[in-house]
Amino acid sequence: MTAAVTERLNLLGLPRAQLEEFVATLGSKPFRARQLMNWMYKRGVGSFADMTDLAKDFRARLGAQAEVRAPRIVATQRSADGTCKWLLQADATQAFEMVFIPEPDRGTLCISSQVGCALDCSFCATAQQGFNRNLSTAEIVGQVWLAARELEREQRERAAAVAGPETATAVREERQVTNVVLMGMGEPLANFRNVVPALGILLDDFGFDLSRRRVTLSTSGLVPQIYKLAQESNVALAVSLHAPDDALRNELVPINRKHPIAELLQACWHYLDEQNGRSVTFEYVMLDGVNDSPAQARALARLLKGHPAKVNLIPFNPFPGTHYRRSPAPVIQRFRDELLQRGLLATIRRTRGEDIAAACGQLAGRVIDRTTVRLGSKVIGVAVQP
Ligand code: SAH
Repeated sequence: MTAAVTERLNLLGLPRAQLEEFVATLGSKPFRARQLMNWMYKRGVGSFADMTDLAKDFRARLGAQAEVRAPRIVATQRSADGTCKWLLQADATQAFEMVFIPEPDRGTLCISSQVGCALDCSFCATAQQGFNRNLSTAEIVGQVWLAARELEREQRERAAAVAGPETATAVREERQVTNVVLMGMGEPLANFRNVVPALGILLDDFGFDLSRRRVTLSTSGLVPQIYKLAQESNVALAVSLHAPDDALRNELVPINRKHPIAELLQACWHYLDEQNGRSVTFEYVMLDGVNDSPAQARALARLLKGHPAKVNLIPFNPFPGTHYRRSPAPVIQRFRDELLQRGLLATIRRTRGEDIAAACGQLAGRVIDRTTVRLGSKVIGVAVQP
């Protein structure tokens, strides 16, 4: 056992009700919690000393008992296309990744929910390292907090370099992270307990205040947890389908052996009904000669026809050791046309950040202690403590 070091409470990731309770233990009124959230999430301030409209003695008590602690950046990489990838520290030997993808009309932050992944999808780099641990709510929310701060700092520095420090503050208003997708490392629904409160803070008016349509959770298809999510959140849902039939999906996304396509689709439509959602996005990775034939496109169209579904075709992103290849561009086009002709909405995801291995499925982080627990193909429910 380690000596009794009283750890300070990390306020990042604390749901509003819990923050109000904490503030009450310090003898303050609940609205102080909202002020604190405003400082933390809207203004990106992490030091209590800088929260100038809070009473000095309250700030001192906060400083003694609490802190705002985001994950530490281990490395930053910038792609030629503007995509930025950060490697973040989880523990002494573990790291995980997040990626920011700037586009003319939005900025999407792709965050991780676990260090490694237990799902064992055959075409995914994260799967190769096995599962190490769940990220905490603070680590999930902390990614968004950190990225917003880092991007803003860079923007200020650029502005100051061009026009001098006076103009730099004017830039501050422009929000860079407009969308958040849980499409980084890990299976978010396998870390339900920590992910759901994080979603709450992303949507909370006093938190990041993002609209529910700008936060997307992507799952490989944990059916019972999709039903549970329908009761607890209303963010946009994306599902990694990748195959139009169970035989192939069993191979690519082994969790399918437990929760086959028909059950998965039912859960999706239930989610939309419960949450009054517009549509579910189905991700479909384009693997040369595996799942990319016109007949497979037609089978996919039959599966989704008449439902509020969108298909997002993802050109496969290779990584060391994989035997898959990306489908050629004309094959992807043809696949998309087959879907469009059958009345399905289908888009092709533009690959970003390839030169820094920041594209979908390339996130590998750094996991030195490989605790390989695979949910899809083998045992389920093994708790792993690092
Ligand atoms: N575990 C969740 C979150 C990962 S999201 C899920 O499975 O949905 C990342 C998306 O990229 C998923 O659709 C995933 O299947 C896809 N993907 C994984 N590896 C890929 C690769 N090498 N190339 C392209 N897409 C990949």
